[in-house]
Amino acid sequence: MAFPGKDPIIICGAGPVGGVTALYLAREGFNVILLEKEKVLPEDLRASTFHPPSMDMLDRLDLMPRLIALGLIVPRYQYRDRRTGEIAEFDMSAIKDETKHPYRLQCEQWRLNKICVEELSKIPNAKVLFEHGVIKVLDQDATGVNILVSTPEGEKTLRGSYVIGAEGANSMIRQTSGLTYEGMTYPEKFLVASTPYPLEKFLPRLSGVNYVSDPDEWCVVLRCNNLWRVLFPTVPGDANEKLLSDEYIQDRLHHLAPKQGDYEIGHRTLYNVHQRVANTYRKGRILLAGDSAHINNPLGGMGMNGGLHDAFNLCEKFLGIRDGKAEENAALDLYDRQRRLTATKFVQEHTIANKKLMEEKDPDAQKKRQADFMRQANDPALAKKFLMKTSMINVVRESYTIQ
Ligand SMILES: Cc1cc2nc3c(=O)[nH]c(=O)nc-3n(C[C@H](O)[C@H](O)[C@H](O)COP(=O)(O)OP(=O)(O)OC[C@H]3O[C@@H](n4cnc5c(N)ncnc54)[C@H](O)[C@@H]3O)c2cc1C
Repeated sequence: MAFPGKDPIIICGAGPVGGVTALYLAREGFNVILLEKEKVLPEDLRASTFHPPSMDMLDRLDLMPRLIALGLIVPRYQYRDRRTGEIAEFDMSAIKDETKHPYRLQCEQWRLNKICVEELSKIPNAKVLFEHGVIKVLDQDATGVNILVSTPEGEKTLRGSYVIGAEGANSMIRQTSGLTYEGMTYPEKFLVASTPYPLEKFLPRLSGVNYVSDPDEWCVVLRCNNLWRVLFPTVPGDANEKLLSDEYIQDRLHHLAPKQGDYEIGHRTLYNVHQRVANTYRKGRILLAGDSAHINNPLGGMGMNGGLHDAFNLCEKFLGIRDGKAEENAALDLYDRQRRLTATKFVQEHTIANKKLMEEKDPDAQKKRQADFMRQANDPALAKKFLMKTSMINVVRESYTIQ
């Protein structure tokens, strides 16, 4: 087995999913190796929203005090109609009896990655190897998996009792294991730009997380540390140079909040948006978690969060096997079913529906959508029902009921 004293468990990718998986297993005494292809941890503009169940899980690793200190607690979030100024505001205290963290935490995902790597460096049975990029899976047998890895000293073969592919959407573990990543890629890209400008001056009562509808162009406005991050859809076929140009971004920001003069622009990121799920999360001793297993549009903030839920579910299965509470095949197959069916049934459906809802252009449908949000936000029972779903509490609970 993969357990203390045997071949280590190799976790590929030091993103939030790989980092948390490695830390959880290492703290439980498993020998782990975390492989990261980059020289240093990337600090890119990606997920920034932690949902309540993810925070409840991270709390079990005692990571929340540090994350909270680095982030912004958002106790209420909004659906706004920019044209009419109507605001549906959901107060997350409605779910205070269901979670220890009845809020969203706005904190860049790379901060969690750094904390994980820092914590792993304190654990003797954990190794973090930078500049180690997985090239391919070589083979597997009854006791382990061999993978080929590029390192500063050239290509090497590493052997793990298990190998967990958590290296993101382009996972080499997934691709070279013959697993598929079924689904689709949207024709349009999403643009994220950040600005230190106080957008709240133009958008009164702006909360830390805002879904803003508009007859011409919807967007998502998020607070992250000292910056506002705005996510816009773009027009399919437009050239990347145009979409990333100052002129285009200034135009988008002025459309959202017209002000005198130019905006100061911080980061800008343009990315493809996909809806895909691997055909299985387990092939013998090879497991997938996070974006390597599933990917979805960012509306609702379910990508990283879903990946963290995979990480905890998978680690729990390893603990069960180690402690003799679960049979290995049964436990790992159950991981696949619980997490894959959840991704397919809930996360994909929910994020696709979120996107459709945001991009609805028909004025009557827009009006109805805003009225629906406001009705739910203003009725405590409906608000709780809505928040149990959007905060991912229900879906995590339901995933554990899958047998
Ligand atoms: C702009 C944007 C905004 C987003 N906002 C949200 C949000 O608000 N909430 C949310 O939940 N999700 C959001 N997401 C999605 C979220 O970022 C991903 O779901 C999340 O990063 C997945 O984590 P991961 O650990 O699986 O993979 P990644 O974060 O992609 O990490 C993979 C790691 O593996 C490394 N790696 C890659 N290839 C190899 C290799 N061959 N060998 C070794 N290492 C390798 C990479 O360098 C990286 O460090 C957003 C995504 C984007 C792009």
